[in-house]
Amino acid sequence: MKLRFLTTIVLLTLTGCEKTPTGRDQLALVPDPVMADMGARAFARMKQEGTTISDPDQRARVECVARRVLDEVESVYPGARVPEQWEVVVFDNATPNAFALPGGRIGIHAGILRVAEGPDQLAAIIGHEVGHLLADHGNERLTQKLGLRIALMLIGLFGEVENEQVLQVLGLGAKLGVTLPFSRAHEREADEMGQLLMAAAGFRPGESVALWQNMAEAGSGQPLEFLSTHPAHDTRIEHLRENLPAAQQRYEKAIPARCPAA
Ligand SMILES: [Zn+2]
Repeated sequence: MKLRFLTTIVLLTLTGCEKTPTGRDQLALVPDPVMADMGARAFARMKQEGTTISDPDQRARVECVARRVLDEVESVYPGARVPEQWEVVVFDNATPNAFALPGGRIGIHAGILRVAEGPDQLAAIIGHEVGHLLADHGNERLTQKLGLRIALMLIGLFGEVENEQVLQVLGLGAKLGVTLPFSRAHEREADEMGQLLMAAAGFRPGESVALWQNMAEAGSGQPLEFLSTHPAHDTRIEHLRENLPAAQQRYEKAIPARCPAA
C-alpha cells in the first residue's frame, strides 16, 4: 500500500522527464515561466548592483556576435524551447567569466573579453552560454535540489524502504553523491552545442579550442571562477576536438561572419 503511494509520487515526478536538444534524458520539473521570472529578477539585480559596459564599440562587438549566434538557434536545434527574449549584457568585471540565467539572460564579464581573441572566440563563449539555456540546465539543477528534498521527505515517510532505493528511483545515484551537480555533463553539453551554434553562425569552430587554451594560460597564476567551476581544460579541449569535424561541416555551409574585432 505504502509502496503504491510511493510509486504514484515517483511517476508524477518523472512526467517531467524530457530530452535536451542533444538527446540527453533530463528531469527538469520547474515550469518555464517560473524559471524565466527567477532569471529576470536575478539579472535585474545584477545590473543594478554591478556596472554594465556602455562603451558603444565594445557593445557593438558583443551584439554582432550574439545576434549571429542567436539567429542560428532555430536551424541548429529546430523545435528546441527557446526563451521568449534574449538579453546579452557586458559587465564591468575583471574576472574572466560568463554566465547564463533562465529567461534568455546572458552576462559577459569584460575580463573574459580580454582573454577571448577576436569575434570567433567570443562566439564560442556566447554559444556555450546559449547552450546552457537551450538545454535548460538551470531548471535541471534546481529540480535536482528539489528532488533531494522530496527524496528526504519520502525516506522520512517510508522508513522501511531502503534509502538508496528511493534515491535511485528519483535518479539521484547514491554513488555519485546527491550534492554533486551535473555540472560536468552540463558543461560538456553546452560546449558541444555552442560549437555547433558558432559554426552555423559563420565563426570558425576551431577557435573554441583556442579559447580554452587561452583560458588555461590566463588561469595559470590566479584562481578563476569560470575555470574552477568548470571541468579541467584538458578534458574540455579534448571533447571540443572530438566534436570539431561535425562543427566544421556546418561551418563550411555557413556564410563567414564579419563582426568587428577589438
Ligand atoms: Zn558553462
